[in-house]
Amino acid sequence: MPNRKTKKKADLIITKGILLTLAPGSVPIQDGSVAILGGRIAAVGTTSEIKKSFLAPKTIDARGGLIMPGLVNAHTHAAMTCYRGLADDLPLMEWLNQFVFPAEAKSDGDQVYWSTLLACAEMIRSGTTTFCDMYLFEDRVAEAAKEAKIRAVVGEVLYDFPSPHYGPIEKGLEFTEALIKNWQKDPLITIVVEPHALYTCSPDLLKKCRSLADRYGVPLKTHLSENQGEVEEILNKYGRRPLDHLENLGLLSSPLIACHCVWLTEAEMDLMARRGVRVVHNPESNMKLASGVAPVPDLLARGVTVGLGTDGCASNNNLDLFQEMDSAAKLHKVHRLDPTVMPSQTVLEMATLGGARVLGMEKEIGSLEAGKKADVIVLELNRPHLQPVYNLVSHLVYSATGADVRDVIIDGKMVMEKRKILTLDEREVLDQARQWGERILDSRNDSTACP
Ligand SMILES: [Zn+2]
Repeated sequence: MPNRKTKKKADLIITKGILLTLAPGSVPIQDGSVAILGGRIAAVGTTSEIKKSFLAPKTIDARGGLIMPGLVNAHTHAAMTCYRGLADDLPLMEWLNQFVFPAEAKSDGDQVYWSTLLACAEMIRSGTTTFCDMYLFEDRVAEAAKEAKIRAVVGEVLYDFPSPHYGPIEKGLEFTEALIKNWQKDPLITIVVEPHALYTCSPDLLKKCRSLADRYGVPLKTHLSENQGEVEEILNKYGRRPLDHLENLGLLSSPLIACHCVWLTEAEMDLMARRGVRVVHNPESNMKLASGVAPVPDLLARGVTVGLGTDGCASNNNLDLFQEMDSAAKLHKVHRLDPTVMPSQTVLEMATLGGARVLGMEKEIGSLEAGKKADVIVLELNRPHLQPVYNLVSHLVYSATGADVRDVIIDGKMVMEKRKILTLDEREVLDQARQWGERILDSRNDSTACP
């Protein structure tokens, strides 16, 4: 039996919790532990196994809790936390054109920075350890995420019209390339090329985005077929449905991350499966904007990779992936009048390994396995809405909320301990949120006063 000297070194051990690694084929370990070294998982196993082999200066006692992988929010616009509740109950195009785009035209880097910190606090509190972002001033998003010590995949939103950030589109492509170069090899931040949508990006811009992404081996991501009007617009403009339009432009040659994918034909879904298009499902945003119900069960049946996203806070209106899982499971059941579709295990996988696969990060995150990055959360189970436990996965999808998350470790570092976020001054972030809210209201009142 190894003694103190022969034990292996770890930085941190999370111990004595129910361990759900979510590694394919794994089963829960009733008294489990995770050893972490150098930002990665050194080993997972029973508490006695880990105790025998590892010694660490810090131990997290997870008794009465569940140890599991951090959640992956595969599509959001983090900085839109500052517009939460500003305009609700409107159709997508009216919402975008009358509220979102005019408000965003007045935004700046500082607003994006503080609103992203607010989003990071909300995501950390609700167990998200990786988010994929699309917005303006993404250098400031990367800066905020880095400060909060949360894993982020960030991309500047690109479209034909001038951006309040970079101005003309050529500058947007240059800016994206600079972002890629600046953040290469960063342990937390990676970059994605993000044309906004087919109806806001010309074929020429889409092709430029594809070639930029391929040149650096980074993913390409866009909004796709979110609502019916958008599909009609593409049909009228190009004589093809969105997926055929992309195929015709040669843009499906390498994997594309497509967000929403609500309005698809059978032929489009077959093409997506053939071309390895990865999908991000955003059920709450689709419900709130009445965009429709994405045919996720049909995509999964074809073997398409699907992850889960909250979309931005203005169309959700929170970043809690536990709630999103609940909505994802129930939406498809009621839509198909079939309670057997989208079982909890499928939905939980979408929020973890599925999201990691969508982002091309499945070798690094999405499950707790030796060698992977140590992105781990501990959930408290000793709560009225979580006892007794018959089926952990069912509890995670249908009963738990983000507020049940107690500890968060990202890249091997403690980011939240006993519900205290260690990387951010949460009071300052909340003060700033209130101040930005007042400024946003003032500037909106100014512009409505002057015709
Ligand atoms: Zn979106």
